[in-house]
Amino acid sequence: MSKILRRQLLGIFLISLALVSGPALLTGGPEGKPLVLQEMSWIDVRDYLNTSDMVIIPLGSTEQHGPQLPLGSDWYETFDISKMISARTGVVVAPVVMAGYSVYHSGFPGTLSLKPETMEQVLYETAEMLVKYGFKRIMFFNSHGGNSGVETAVVRRINQSLEAIAVAIGEGSPVQAGGERLAGVWFDEHAGIEETSMLLRLEPELVHIERAEKPVIQFSPKVQELLGLLERYPQLGPVLGGLLAVPEETKKGGSSRDISSNGIWSLGDPKAATREIGDKIVTRQTENAVKFIQAWKQAVK
Ligand SMILES: [Zn+2]
Repeated sequence: MSKILRRQLLGIFLISLALVSGPALLTGGPEGKPLVLQEMSWIDVRDYLNTSDMVIIPLGSTEQHGPQLPLGSDWYETFDISKMISARTGVVVAPVVMAGYSVYHSGFPGTLSLKPETMEQVLYETAEMLVKYGFKRIMFFNSHGGNSGVETAVVRRINQSLEAIAVAIGEGSPVQAGGERLAGVWFDEHAGIEETSMLLRLEPELVHIERAEKPVIQFSPKVQELLGLLERYPQLGPVLGGLLAVPEETKKGGSSRDISSNGIWSLGDPKAATREIGDKIVTRQTENAVKFIQAWKQAVK
């Protein structure tokens, strides 16, 4: 067989293979492309549902993230990582809302916030539609602590009333338990070293690192008292949850404006952020979620 003929035959073989396995390519899988609902047609969704009943719904926020990070930081984190998970597992990502519950950040302009009951309702109605088409395994990937109450509520509501199983697989969920802190300070909760590192890894062109500045952190006397007690009584942790990340109007001194001079919640200097730290966090979160999905795929129905 001549070299040219062999190459032609190989070409025909590859084309026919592509035709036969055409729809299968849509399901992504190892090193595949991410599948995003808004980029698919109904034909694609119909074919996908013949192969899988799983869907990932990213949850983030549009809220102040200090002077150096974009308002959409949490959104980019959840969407970008969800797409990485999709590329590895072939599971569809279905974005629903770009805002979250963030009212305690509203002392800084640009922050958007949905009332918890509004957000829960939007997510629940979205789940109802997805279930109607045959999505029966719904995974919420959350990247914003303020959404955790809403997430817990909607997961419970879906599980109690729809023919579907909903679980949380993002930050704060058991799937992500046990990650080491990489900032080198005990308080680095928001737009600090870790989060700036994540954005340097995910959306570097949106980071203004030259504006990064160590904030002046001021805890209210109530919070300071509790922090002192926590050393002896670690079980008081949940009480801190009722004092921090709460709206200014509660007068507990737990809003962003009360605590931080520039919106960053960290005792570290965000200029210490690196792409390498960000890569560790992003890789850990992606791997944990991928492992979970691979395990859940073992349950066929
Ligand atoms: Zn954030």
